[in-house]
Amino acid sequence: MSDVLRADVLRATGIHKSFEDREVLKGVDVTLGAHEVVALIGASGSGKSTLLRCLGLLEPIDDGQIFLGDEDISDPRVDGNRVRARLGAVFQSFNLFPHLSVLDNVTLASRVVHRMPRRDAEARAAELLARVGLADKARDHPDRLSGGQQQRVAIARAIATDPEVLLLDEITSALDPELVGEVLELVRDLASEGATILMATHEMAFARDVADRVVFLDAGTIVEQGPSASVLRNPQEARTRAFLARVTA
Ligand code: ADP
Ligand code: MG
Repeated sequence: MSDVLRADVLRATGIHKSFEDREVLKGVDVTLGAHEVVALIGASGSGKSTLLRCLGLLEPIDDGQIFLGDEDISDPRVDGNRVRARLGAVFQSFNLFPHLSVLDNVTLASRVVHRMPRRDAEARAAELLARVGLADKARDHPDRLSGGQQQRVAIARAIATDPEVLLLDEITSALDPELVGEVLELVRDLASEGATILMATHEMAFARDVADRVVFLDAGTIVEQGPSASVLRNPQEARTRAFLARVTA
């Protein structure tokens, strides 16, 4: 697609991030076009979560720039809460509020951050819960749900505010194998409906089927990126080949 049709939704350049004296991101550039689905792959410890957290303004960066649309969200004068309200994030470990019902989990940001009237927020949440197959769980607390159901609530919560970008961090890694499919299916639906998604994942078959592009991160550096089928089937870099041989063995 031409640049004219496909404006960048998220564009990060030269991202550096260290924890104490350990450099975890060593100058990462990553771009997400509108409606693009990008899979972030790489070994454990390569920096995937740190990158997602930096892009979501959940972690300050040491150097580089991040644009959301045409706004430089890495500018220290930016109001982080306002920016985070434009993003949806889902993590490995669900992170639902345990003391709130499923319905309140899904409506909280709409009500508190976006100041949507409760009735409107609840109507929208009911639609979303039906959509993720959990209409009958609205009044339950998260601990009554399976991991797969909790993760589907977390996704409903993330999309309740119509985020410009979804940042998904290994959202199936903590699930029992039989629950992975229902969550991936939901991500596949969101992708086909035009969501813009950056997802760290170990699910290579899913990345190949659903992602437009794959970005391979190794020790804080992007070693290779490109269309999913070519990176996953025909990797050009030795480090990508070695990683793929390990995870698909
Ligand atoms: P991945 O998600 O690819 O497994 P992470 O981004 O979680 O990788 O971690 C990359 C490196 O950064 C690891 O060595 C990890 O120990 C380190 N790291 C991540 N978060 C912190 C933190 N808050 N404090 C110190 N080190 C961290
Ligand atoms: Mg991680």
